[in-house]
Amino acid sequence: MRKKIVAGNWKMNTTVSEAVELAKGLVASLNEVPEDVKLVVAPPFTNLVPVSDVISGTSIALSSQNCADQEKGAYTGEVSAKMVKSVGCSYVILGHSERREYYGETSEKLVKKIKLALGEGLSPIFCIGEKLQERQDNIHFDVIAAQIKEVLFELSAEEMAQVVVAYEPVWAIGTGVTATSEQAQEIHAYVRGILAEKFGELAQEISILYGGSCKPSNAKELFACPDIDGGLIGGAALKASDFIAIAQSY
Ligand code: PEP
Repeated sequence: MRKKIVAGNWKMNTTVSEAVELAKGLVASLNEVPEDVKLVVAPPFTNLVPVSDVISGTSIALSSQNCADQEKGAYTGEVSAKMVKSVGCSYVILGHSERREYYGETSEKLVKKIKLALGEGLSPIFCIGEKLQERQDNIHFDVIAAQIKEVLFELSAEEMAQVVVAYEPVWAIGTGVTATSEQAQEIHAYVRGILAEKFGELAQEISILYGGSCKPSNAKELFACPDIDGGLIGGAALKASDFIAIAQSY
């Protein structure tokens, strides 16, 4: 049985007090979420500790939105996988399209990050997805295959077993345009097929999340697809009632 995961990427939003309020809202409604759906929240680095305090003792898991590609030392402004682990994270989002686009996150860097994260016992939520032009040029399958092969094919099966994949078409992130359930399912099945090339049967155990303008009104249809194992939620994760409603869509 694959884990069902609904993860909230809060991006560069929330002050400490706003983050605490949002986390408290989630805790208050947690009993409305099916027990087999794992909630994960990814606040900004500055809010990991206060949010960790609020969700402590609940089933909600903590994630960071990134970690450094170096272990430790003179890397001003960076936050290491070990630091992230030390504040209570069990997940780390890696390779988000905004990091690839604005911060030069390459596959080479992502291999280093994912290995360091795995070394700390963190589960990476590894993001992949094509840009609009790539879909229009009909090269989206190639783009996705390359993103997977360049990073995840560097892992052992034991390491891969800890990874969650998130398919996030860049044209659907924050745009209000969602992939149709057919488009999403097609890619999710394709991703699983590529993972099977390298990891065989293990591919059936890997959770593959959909991300991109997922909201209460479309989550049910997306989550009903056989290869969609949950969602990575941006905008709708900033409102506790919407995030909970998405999780309830299972
Ligand atoms: C994201 O950035 O991971 C995301 C899915 O954003 P949104 O839900 O706002 O499209």
